[in-house]
Amino acid sequence: MKHKVDRALIKFSRIFKDAGYSCYLVGGAVRNLSMGFKVSDYDFATDALPEAVIKLFRKVIPTGIKHGTVTVLFSGHKLEVTTFRTDGDYTDLRRPDKVHFTPSIYEDLKRRDFTINSMAYDLLSGELLDPHHGKDDLKKTVIRAIGNASERFQEDALRIMRACRFAAQLNFSIEESTLAGMKDKAQNLKAVSAERIRDELEKILKSAQPSIAFHIMADTGVLDVVLPELSACRGVLQKGFHSFDVFEHSLYSCDGAPADNPEVRLAALLHDVGKPSTLSHDELGIPTFYGHEQKSVEISRNIIQRFKFPKAFESNVLNLIQNHMFNFQPEWSDSAVRRFIAKAGLENIENMFALRRADQFGMNRTSIDSHNLIDFHKRIRNVIDADHAFTIKDLAVNGHILHEKAGIPKGPKMGIVLEFLLETVLDDPDLNNEEDLLKISANFYKERLQK
Ligand code: ATP
Ligand code: MG
Repeated sequence: MKHKVDRALIKFSRIFKDAGYSCYLVGGAVRNLSMGFKVSDYDFATDALPEAVIKLFRKVIPTGIKHGTVTVLFSGHKLEVTTFRTDGDYTDLRRPDKVHFTPSIYEDLKRRDFTINSMAYDLLSGELLDPHHGKDDLKKTVIRAIGNASERFQEDALRIMRACRFAAQLNFSIEESTLAGMKDKAQNLKAVSAERIRDELEKILKSAQPSIAFHIMADTGVLDVVLPELSACRGVLQKGFHSFDVFEHSLYSCDGAPADNPEVRLAALLHDVGKPSTLSHDELGIPTFYGHEQKSVEISRNIIQRFKFPKAFESNVLNLIQNHMFNFQPEWSDSAVRRFIAKAGLENIENMFALRRADQFGMNRTSIDSHNLIDFHKRIRNVIDADHAFTIKDLAVNGHILHEKAGIPKGPKMGIVLEFLLETVLDDPDLNNEEDLLKISANFYKERLQK
């Protein structure tokens, strides 16, 4: 394992050793190294107190000093260093604020959540400490709580979300008594802050197959607490090309969205949450969901605000959900295609297609781009490449020019004129030149707005 880490980290460990301290790589880095994965961030554990760590290095940020954590900037790395801690009764070097430091790495490993997260690796000796047999569980591909699962989830219910997250990230299953503990304590997630849960949701959305996590959440009752709106989609049947109920369809749509695009991932997960409340049946008994996209937007807005996602993220996701039902017909004129782009917003087009592909994947878990979608994409590309105007900013005139040369007064009427000009050039892009637009606007103003 040692040869896989940057030599700077070995040098880093030696600084601790030379000062008489121990220093281990811990947490996700050891897990990833053991599995042969890339490591992006390194967590270290030491018996040195934070003040001592600060003295050892030149650039140290006191990131979480209350919990014994500092960040050391070293050779281009940002290294998190946490003093051995115990969350139980065992105390030696007692500290206020409920954090107890301990000189024992074994005590520190005991307070960690899962066996696969509780290995410590000494970069100098190459020794791996693995008192909870994390390595075996990595081989068995299981997530297992350390100690009594219910007790551990009682201490911190976020660990329940973490279990779901690791299952999706690693494609692992959850060991039976750990799963039972999750069911037992699922309700405790009500008391966990929205931000902490959101961080886990974001990691789930970035994983290869988010559906793994959401299935576990559904089976353990976690989903009823965290995302009851998605839970309500279970058992809601659909007809047509759909092989799944609304819930399964939502999960597989999410899987089918690009893993590096959280906006499309979340839009795919939530695009149909409005279906349960808009369900009715036509005269043949076939389920219909009229207006569900609007309802999905309302419900999703609630969810996104509850988890305090950034505003820009919210509006992009809601826009995608609002427009996910677009229905291209080959006989659309170029002008209709331009109107579509103008309405959706040029910057959202690629995400809209990604969402549609995800939605189609979610119907039967196979990805085949429909001819219709490919054709539409080509039409859109052609229209975009022709570099026409899609917003008022793209017009060959602006308010200033219209005022100076066509005598349109500044104020609200100017806005109406500009809107009209945009409509005009969406219909006929050849008119997007100053001469034509000045004539058209003067005419429009005189006929429709002057009185
Ligand atoms: P990643 O960095 O990929 O999210 P990680 O395992 O490193 O995964 P972190 O949140 O960085 O996760 O935490 C580092 C380590 O701290 C974990 O591996 C685990 O040992 C411990 N840990 C983190 N959160 C908890 C928790 N809520 N309860 C118990 N131990 C935890
Ligand atoms: Mg980590």
